[in-house]
Amino acid sequence: MTTTHQSQQSPYIKVKRSRIHGTGVFAKKDIPKGTKIIEYVGEKITKAESSRRSDAQIESAKKTNDGAVYIFELNKRYDIDGNVPWNTAKYINHSCNPNCEVEIIRGHIWIISTRDIKKGEELSYNYGFDLEDYEDHPCRCGAENCVGYIAAEDQWPKLKRKLARKKSRKK
Ligand SMILES: [Zn+2]
Repeated sequence: MTTTHQSQQSPYIKVKRSRIHGTGVFAKKDIPKGTKIIEYVGEKITKAESSRRSDAQIESAKKTNDGAVYIFELNKRYDIDGNVPWNTAKYINHSCNPNCEVEIIRGHIWIISTRDIKKGEELSYNYGFDLEDYEDHPCRCGAENCVGYIAAEDQWPKLKRKLARKKSRKK
């Protein structure tokens, strides 16, 4: 049997090469703040399956140096593994100064604009990573406030302390 999943479409976006990292998602037209731009789709999996896959992804990331993680927490019982070909939203890059956020609305994961976005701008959101293995996830978003690694904003003070300690050790 062949899968009949179609690539996730949205009138707001187009996918092309990004200066941040690999492939990115860009605004095809002006997008007002608060727009549900595209759903982050994937395979619904249990927490047990999710941690198995996360471990596998981390292992392969160490080998390929590709820190891609596509698993999203949906609720207490299930996660979404977005590493499927039809999930267009997986191409959205992380930024330290993002223009979108992720919101779970009635069991669906949505990418929503947090400000007005101009046609041609690259879409981004904060991946919200904790600091475990942060060194595997360097950030090249280019934002003025870039903290150098992909990390949730509430982790930034802690990250900055870690980086300062590392720097002083090198001297
Ligand atoms: Zn950054």
